[in-house]
Amino acid sequence: MHIHEYQAKTLFRQSNIKTPEAILIDNTADASSACDKLGGNIWVVKAQVHAGGRGKGGGVILCRSLEEVESACDKLLGSNLITPQTDAKGLPINQLLIEGGQNIERELYLGLLVDRQTQQITILASTEGGMDIEKVAAETPEKIIKFGIDPLGTLNEESCLSIASQLNLENDLANQFSTTLLGLYEIFTEKDVSLIEINPLITTAENNLIALDGKIDFDDNALYRHEDIVELRDVSQEDEKENEASEYQLNYISLDGTIGCMVNGAGLAMATMDLIEHHGGSPANFLDVGGGTTAQRVAKAFELIQTEVNVKGVLVNIFGGIVRCDLIAEGILQAIEKVGLNLPIVVRLEGTNAAAGLKLLDESSADIYTEADLTQAAIKIVELSK
Ligand code: ADP
Ligand code: MG
Repeated sequence: MHIHEYQAKTLFRQSNIKTPEAILIDNTADASSACDKLGGNIWVVKAQVHAGGRGKGGGVILCRSLEEVESACDKLLGSNLITPQTDAKGLPINQLLIEGGQNIERELYLGLLVDRQTQQITILASTEGGMDIEKVAAETPEKIIKFGIDPLGTLNEESCLSIASQLNLENDLANQFSTTLLGLYEIFTEKDVSLIEINPLITTAENNLIALDGKIDFDDNALYRHEDIVELRDVSQEDEKENEASEYQLNYISLDGTIGCMVNGAGLAMATMDLIEHHGGSPANFLDVGGGTTAQRVAKAFELIQTEVNVKGVLVNIFGGIVRCDLIAEGILQAIEKVGLNLPIVVRLEGTNAAAGLKLLDESSADIYTEADLTQAAIKIVELSK
């Protein structure tokens, strides 16, 4: 689960990490009193969306007067922000964080993640923080400091100070860095985080170390034990279809292509997508209907796929192990009855009761192509959806 920058910063403050004074608004009418409360004469208006790269997408606007703040608010609120990390549609901006403009001296990077290779929580730090950290990681990886934390031990101050010194932070800044890193580690371990990041972590002319941005991703599998975190969820930032799917225990991810896929089992779903690509098509989604699926769930899955605007054809690929192919066929027919069929559809059934399932489909009045062979099914749907 993702959260917004302003929510991450609230968690930061609770763990002694310094953040700039800021006020959240959802209406331009509140901008003036926010600027008043913050004081100063430079403000930064920041779009709250679940994506990074906001600066590059025009979602972080530096303002030198109240008029500029208000026009930034008008421009951003209610629009969609497209950044290098969003799709072409972008994400809706419903809230803005107004922050006092900081006197930035240096922009550092500091993050914690689970490194699957070393199986450790790993600290990543760099002197080259800011909006081009991805480029730094790709082109000059030696500028990223990596430090693995012993899973049986903990993070101590000595390690923090050693990293501080590698970042050329001295004296009080080194101590502030240590507090910040210990704070991040506390959040990471207490809240079952999978990624936490401050980019940039700045030093100011006043010798303060401040988290100017904040990103936290939580492990969905552990959310059941963090009610406070679940409350931070903002569904407006999530894919509606993916949410609807998860209510039916369907594993659904929207993609950019034109061929809707309905498959049981994640491995088979991947193989099906590969095969579609191999024969010149492109999948519109990843959908795993699961092992013990029901006719009702198949109907829901079918409805989700068919209502995706870019879909030009549907490929159903079911391997009946636990699930019975005749039940799947019934689900497909139920779905067609409910939502209609306005797209070409190819169904490949194999395994338990496959023959019975294919017979049901062949005998129905619906216009369905049935195939027993997966390669032929993929070739057929690519051809039909051209
Ligand atoms: P994103 O990473 O999504 O682009 P950031 O919050 O990191 O968004 O902001 C992008 C850049 O804008 C920062 O690297 C920093 O240079 C500048 N910036 C952000 N907030 C402030 C602020 N309060 N004062 C001054 N500059 C800021
Ligand atoms: Mg940032």
